[in-house]
Amino acid sequence: CKEHLRLEMDSLSQNEEFARVVTAVFMSRLNPTLEEVDDVKTAVSEAVTNAVIHGYQGRGGVIHMEITADTQENVLEVCVKDTGVGIADVKRAMEPMFTTDPEGERSGMGFSFMEAFMDQVDVQSEPGKGTLVSMKK
Ligand code: ATP
Ligand code: MG
Repeated sequence: CKEHLRLEMDSLSQNEEFARVVTAVFMSRLNPTLEEVDDVKTAVSEAVTNAVIHGYQGRGGVIHMEITADTQENVLEVCVKDTGVGIADVKRAMEPMFTTDPEGERSGMGFSFMEAFMDQVDVQSEPGKGTLVSMKK
């Protein structure tokens, strides 16, 4: 049996915390360990932050989130989608320490954290159309 939660929120940095907390509350129905909850919260935070700062480049936009709890298989799936600028080379973007941040404030580790903390990370993106990050734990 699968249970779904769909969210639509403005691309604002204060929604990163919101997305994290909502995910943690929703996934509690799978009786996760505290460590699993923390791992998923970290990954969600990275994905939403990327949508806010890279996808919409600090301008307005809508971030879509869909969380699916498969209570039978005990699997959580989180999808974070933006319709922002998109990524030209996803493989390169996902390499550790790759960043397009011009000020050098970012470390380029967001995708690496998502891959480290989740069991599966899939990124689909098209320049000018947006980005969809699907993660499973
Ligand atoms: P950090 O996450 O460590 O602060 P970062 O965001 O640059 O740094 P990643 O999260 O790994 O590092 O992302 C790598 C690069 O992929 C980004 O610099 C950006 O160019 C691109 N990127 C990631 N997510 C998106 C997105 N939603 N839309 C457009 N580009 C993105
Ligand atoms: Mg990032």
